[in-house]
Amino acid sequence: MDVGAAEHTLDGSSPGGLKRSISNYERLRASIPGGVNSPFRGFQHVACASAVAPMLVMARGEGARIFDVDGNAYLDYVCAWGPLILGHVPPPVRDAARAALDEGWIFGASTRHEAAFAEAIRDCFPGMEMTRFVNSGAEAVQAAVRLARSFSGRSALVKLEGCYHGHVESLDMADERVRAEASGVVKALLDETRVAPFNDLDALEKVLDGDVAAVVVEPVPGSMGVIPPDAGYLPAVREACTRRGVLLIFDEVLTGFRVALGGAQERYGVTADITVLGKILGGGFAAGAYGGRRDIMAQVAPLGPMYQAGTFCGNPLTMRAGLATVAQLRKPGTYEALERRTARLTRGIAEAARALEIALEAPHVGSMFGLLFSDRPVRNLTDYQHCDDARFAAFFHGMLREGVYLPPSQSDAAVLSTAHTDEDVERTIEAAARVLRTLK
Ligand code: PMP
Repeated sequence: MDVGAAEHTLDGSSPGGLKRSISNYERLRASIPGGVNSPFRGFQHVACASAVAPMLVMARGEGARIFDVDGNAYLDYVCAWGPLILGHVPPPVRDAARAALDEGWIFGASTRHEAAFAEAIRDCFPGMEMTRFVNSGAEAVQAAVRLARSFSGRSALVKLEGCYHGHVESLDMADERVRAEASGVVKALLDETRVAPFNDLDALEKVLDGDVAAVVVEPVPGSMGVIPPDAGYLPAVREACTRRGVLLIFDEVLTGFRVALGGAQERYGVTADITVLGKILGGGFAAGAYGGRRDIMAQVAPLGPMYQAGTFCGNPLTMRAGLATVAQLRKPGTYEALERRTARLTRGIAEAARALEIALEAPHVGSMFGLLFSDRPVRNLTDYQHCDDARFAAFFHGMLREGVYLPPSQSDAAVLSTAHTDEDVERTIEAAARVLRTLK
């Protein structure tokens, strides 16, 4: 189906139809909590009166497009929540994965692909002198935190408010102690975690004294829309950590290979002590990695006393898909084109909103962007909490009807892939202008 012609509403009454999505959704809900295997996939954050909210159930992807089980096509700005920077089913990654399928996709023993991939990562992230591969971003953050505690002999952590690091003990729920009670998170672990607002160096300095093992930073937060760090903020955080002998952990699960080949560290000229990667790293296959200075990584078993292990870690399927992805991303002009298209997209939508006097912020860093119904620039969690969720919900459903699939919450970063064309971008701006008009 032509993207521009996709025409449907979420109650399934429209010509495009969502009958199969709805019946699959009922089956999913009966057997899987909320019908989803990761909470933000449900459409609960965009529930609104004009749409009974069964989420879409997807069938396949191709380039910049994703197709639901009813055959409706959408321009995909979710891209699996970040990993698919080359779009859906890019032939070089598919071929690399196929080679692994022919030769065996897991051995539980080392392969040459792990060495090649760790070397490629060091080329992109010079601070990752050594790397350990795991299977997800959360797993990698958890290991990085344990490593920092093992290396420093200290236990306290500092995290920045509103930054997301996966469902990791000590970090998850640290912003929301009130709700933590019933969440299953052990309060004593949260007592080891101090929180400071993002983009606020003074507040960070205040919580840094004492026995802090590490500061965990999402260098471009992507779970409060997209927040560009203030000029000089990340270098100042680096300096504050160095001065006190506190380790700096950069969670580059989202920003790694996204805001530049070498992530936020390349873009902002800062080197972390420990770097965490995920998402794009595996070329769309389940992956995570943590790495850093050689003396710190020497702490990891079997070299050192910090235990971390995994059956699926470093499997050849993921290593080969990841290597093939990085090889594509290295091609000259890749990041310039992504940046140019994302700048055009966000500028176009922001101009359409301004013309209608609708308060909308459309920040972007590289090819990650946010569309936030906010009357002020969003610099931290407090600013984010002023965003208008009802307006975003109406916008989200309007865009779906236009055949454009955005993350189903304004908190989560949207992304472009190399498969998105200039024409796709122009169509999206036109669609957004039409939908914004209906919000007046
Ligand atoms: N850190 C960041 C910055 C993330 O964006 C995410 C996932 N959205 C994670 C960690 C967790 O990664 P995963 O979902 O692969 O466990």
